[in-house]
Amino acid sequence: MTLEVGMMQCPCVSHRKKLVQAFEEGEIDFRVCTECGIAFRERFPSLSELEEIYRQAYVEEKIGSGNTNQESGGYAARSYAEFIRRSLWRTGARVLDYGAGSGALVERLRANGVEASGIEFSSDARRFCREKRGFSLMSNLDEVPNDHFDTVSMIEVVEHLTDLQGTLVQLHRVIAPDGSLLVTTPNRKGLRARIENGHWREAQKKFHLFLFDWPSLKFHLEAAGFHDLRRVVFSPVQRPGLKTLVAVRLMQALRVSGTLSVIAKRSK
Ligand SMILES: [Zn+2]
Repeated sequence: MTLEVGMMQCPCVSHRKKLVQAFEEGEIDFRVCTECGIAFRERFPSLSELEEIYRQAYVEEKIGSGNTNQESGGYAARSYAEFIRRSLWRTGARVLDYGAGSGALVERLRANGVEASGIEFSSDARRFCREKRGFSLMSNLDEVPNDHFDTVSMIEVVEHLTDLQGTLVQLHRVIAPDGSLLVTTPNRKGLRARIENGHWREAQKKFHLFLFDWPSLKFHLEAAGFHDLRRVVFSPVQRPGLKTLVAVRLMQALRVSGTLSVIAKRSK
């Protein structure tokens, strides 16, 4: 279905080509920019609406009992920490986890001997981190000096950003020359998304404002100044096991895995 080009446009404002509806059923308010392929919500929630959506999500995920996505994803945090340490770290390097949630990955990185810090928008999650893990997360990038971090990770976060281009440009600013940004995000061209259409779990999450395929993720990272994008064959499955691992690797090889994982470089 083609829509009239009205007030809505791609977050890359130079894109003026027509928008089409992303899904025929379920979350029908996602629009696709036919120029870069990004999908985004027709109407972004207001800040207070977003706060309420996150509050609900945290209540449902029982952040208080420590049983959140991040917590139950203890295995995922371990895998990401190990991947970052192995592939993106050298002695003395500084790592930032942007959208750190309750701080599980930062904690894990520190346990692995990595100098890591985190930024998290949600004050509830920051409080949880302070009280349960004993360290503080920053609330935004404003205070971070230029060229400060060697590696920034953004695990399942880019789809949440209210200011996509602004945040990517700011991240580029705080990464040191030749430093790296690791991004993972749901793949809207993945097998599950193709089958489930607008009932896809990742589309149903109201705080997901953007849904990417590979070309649109690449486009928007490059628009913010990143280059040398490299897709990584890596996805920490929640329950490790040979069958799951084989299935994940196969889907990655066929480019229909549920997650896009990419390492982008800042220019030297
Ligand atoms: Zn676009």
